[in-house]
Amino acid sequence: MSRILIVEDEEHLANGLRFNLEAEGYQVELVDTGESALDRLRVDAPAFDLVILDVMLPGKDGFTVMSELRQAGQFIPTLMLTARGHPDDVLQGFAAGADDYLAKPFELAILIARIGGLLRRREWLRASLDRSATPEPDAVFTFGDKSVHFDLLELRVRKQVFPLTLMEANVLRYLIQHEDRPVSRKAMLEEVWGLHEDTDTRAIDNFMVRLRRYIEQDPTHPRHLITVRGVGYRFVASPDRSAAGPEGAS
Ligand code: CA
Repeated sequence: MSRILIVEDEEHLANGLRFNLEAEGYQVELVDTGESALDRLRVDAPAFDLVILDVMLPGKDGFTVMSELRQAGQFIPTLMLTARGHPDDVLQGFAAGADDYLAKPFELAILIARIGGLLRRREWLRASLDRSATPEPDAVFTFGDKSVHFDLLELRVRKQVFPLTLMEANVLRYLIQHEDRPVSRKAMLEEVWGLHEDTDTRAIDNFMVRLRRYIEQDPTHPRHLITVRGVGYRFVASPDRSAAGPEGAS
């Protein structure tokens, strides 16, 4: 039975969610502040399979809680409840490390479907770990001493392993699929996030900052995730091969 931690300060909404999720067969625990969620997950993370995290909370807001969890190496699947469906909020949630989001007010059936999707994915990952079978060829992309394991949501750099959120993995996959070609921020918003509205694309830059911290030896002088001025980004798997470029031999 999957266990869900709900972080929500509106009592009636929290109780309603608990009632309905328990009816779906989940074990549910409620907390009403970000601080108590962080405490709960720090002490007893394996007790939960998924977190539903509200944005507007007294004290630490959901975005802060999300990024503190990820910084602490806690990669439990998390669905954020944003107050508005505004793309900036959505992107801020993803940039903080959320796996999925739902704008309030939401349809209960949709929430339940999203929860099911996130948990299913977790089960697949567990199953593939248990089998420890050879991964599908597409599941791993290797460049230099780094490899992206899409099936395990991991980035491995030599002996180091960085867990990736679903969204980080999707951004990387998209860039890798367009290797050596410039990819616009707008295209990333549309293709990776499914956002078509005009929106502040700077949230993407925050994503890239994080990915560079994992991938680049010197994130201030990226060699793989290159900024294309006025456009977006370009992924280069083998910077040494294109040594004639501006970021070539040093
Ligand atoms: Ca709230």
